[in-house]
Amino acid sequence: MKLPVSFPAPHPDETLYSLLCRYHVRSCNQSDGATLHQLFDKKRSLHTTVLSPFPLRFASQWTDSFHGISRESLLLDHTAFPFYRAFYSCSNNSRSSYAADRFFMAMYNNCCTPSKKLRYCPKCAQAQWEHLGVSYWQILPQINGFEICPIHLEPIRETHITHWDIRYNFYPAANELGNPKSCDNLEHLKMVEQNWEDFLQMALDISFLFRFSYYGFHLGTRIRKALQFDLIPVHHNWVRTILNDPVVMECCDLACMDSLAAMVHDPYHLISQIQCVHVCLQLRLCRAMFGDLEEFCNARM
Ligand SMILES: [Zn+2]
Repeated sequence: MKLPVSFPAPHPDETLYSLLCRYHVRSCNQSDGATLHQLFDKKRSLHTTVLSPFPLRFASQWTDSFHGISRESLLLDHTAFPFYRAFYSCSNNSRSSYAADRFFMAMYNNCCTPSKKLRYCPKCAQAQWEHLGVSYWQILPQINGFEICPIHLEPIRETHITHWDIRYNFYPAANELGNPKSCDNLEHLKMVEQNWEDFLQMALDISFLFRFSYYGFHLGTRIRKALQFDLIPVHHNWVRTILNDPVVMECCDLACMDSLAAMVHDPYHLISQIQCVHVCLQLRLCRAMFGDLEEFCNARM
């Protein structure tokens, strides 16, 4: 399908959802529903586009309107895929298949925050406005565990807009940021402030992995490989690492914590299952075992 209006050029780190919002504004369609029908031929939920390219299959219908933006660059530059692929590999190479869609749905579920609200860095938004004349939703603040903007050292803020709200509605960032209805979770902000260094480290690790990962790089495999050479102290204080880590406590849900409680006293079992545990926990464990993530990922093995 050739869309009547071309897509706006995506900005750095802009989510697919944000791009669709700006398309909606540009289309001058009378309603959000009209744009949804134009894009998908039917009413279709947008909530996964906050983080993932699901349903990417439709992107092939829009290609003519992309002005040279490939599906590959949409996937790599405008979704959480570069971060997520370091943890789970997509077994089916055909990105247009249902298997790939399932992978992208899992990616959304593993990367979204417990509160499932649109989030932003106020200083990034201000800089976007000053330099580009528009604000947009960025990918990293939508990732669970990314609680501080490493560029501005500013806590990530929550809007009132939930992923439920955006299923069939477009909320362009330019209309929403600075909206007096925007509400912060004060308890969460306090938790981040009190454990600033831990959360900042996590944000730096997420940001690093997002830019570092490449096809074939898999963090869990690397951890197991490192263990074969006995490079780390297995007798680490796992209870402290897992059950007292403020980042893990804030980012993992109760079901996840329950399964951890069973693993925590058996480090060998935990390590053998590392690729099965929550993304945030894999990152925190990796840091606890090997220290600097960048050094660990770049080390020759
Ligand atoms: Zn920022």
